[in-house]
Amino acid sequence: MVPGIHRPAAVYVDLSAIKQNIEQELNHLEPGQKLFAVIKANAYGHGAVKVAQLAAKNGVSGFCVAILDEALELRRAGITQPILVLGVTPEEYVTLAAKNDISLTVPDFEWLNAADQELNNTGLQLKIHLAVDSGMGRIGFSEDEEFLQANDFLLDNPHFEVEGLFTHFASADSSDDTYFKTQVERFEHLKSLLKVKPKWIHVDNTAASIYGKRVHSDLVRFGIGLYGLNPSSNPSTPDLPAQIRLKPALSLESELVQVHTIHKGQGVGYGSTYIADCDQIIGTIPLGYADGFIRKFQGFKIQVGNEYCPIVGRICMDQLMVRLPYEMPTKTKVILISNDPTAPNNIKAAADYVDSIHYEVACLLDDRLPRIYR
Ligand code: PLP
Repeated sequence: MVPGIHRPAAVYVDLSAIKQNIEQELNHLEPGQKLFAVIKANAYGHGAVKVAQLAAKNGVSGFCVAILDEALELRRAGITQPILVLGVTPEEYVTLAAKNDISLTVPDFEWLNAADQELNNTGLQLKIHLAVDSGMGRIGFSEDEEFLQANDFLLDNPHFEVEGLFTHFASADSSDDTYFKTQVERFEHLKSLLKVKPKWIHVDNTAASIYGKRVHSDLVRFGIGLYGLNPSSNPSTPDLPAQIRLKPALSLESELVQVHTIHKGQGVGYGSTYIADCDQIIGTIPLGYADGFIRKFQGFKIQVGNEYCPIVGRICMDQLMVRLPYEMPTKTKVILISNDPTAPNNIKAAADYVDSIHYEVACLLDDRLPRIYR
């Protein structure tokens, strides 16, 4: 995908906001606790290399990504801190990970055994983090027997350095802690069976950390908070108050490329789902669902100049239209998603509108939109 640098549409990222979010979280950590920045999925759409370089200079001790390629991208960019791949990496790539000093997640004994065979006679040692499935139902050890088998296998095994033990919470962003507590209990139980000694035990994501639920652990895996967003994202429940000041970093901006009048009875967009009931002024904006601004945003009000204007008609692949209250010149600035949390088109409001979460809205923004840092 080529970034569209010859059209007026881009994702703007306020690096000073990310820096401030890091500072806030560093001050909030328990004594001795480390901060790992979760920058998977291109730093939740913000641009992984730029965010990692900033974080590396501002007190972050390590990084988490989802897939090996994301880790390799960071190493190529000169990031030297520990990098943990949170997802399952096919065992045929464990030597590649070890050669690049990248830590991998162990989901189960079968994987560990296969990785061990791959490392045989290579002279390499792989850094690993044992995942515990305490209730996400996703990856990790959940049965005592298999966990003990893995521990026995790892004792004095020269192929592995056990760097971590971790779990992930399913509902740390909820005010109801019932399930969260069962996860903590399950994790603590498996932890008590450890025979190997991981360097870092880690459980906290942004929510567990900033809502004061933190369970003692050696590092926080800080994702959505890095980008200044409150993880509590269920539209039907109010945000839980964050114990740190979060400043959103991302906005999606463009310009009007055409302004014209349509007459009563004329339609806008594919399927003519919008028919003008009187003469009205329509502005066209040069981005669409191929940029990750999905069709469900039809009807959402975005900022054009000083006005909030509804998107009318179906969003096209590369363009969308708004109804303007009055004639505006082409090149008028358009903010589709605002980084001002009080603006009606802030990312949380946008996510609520399309029945999603802000994580998804940010991640969907495609590489065709250049990332511009300011
Ligand atoms: N840890 C794991 C295993 C994750 O999958 C994620 C994100 O999904 C995080 C940490 C970061 O979560 P958050 O962005 O809510 O801080």
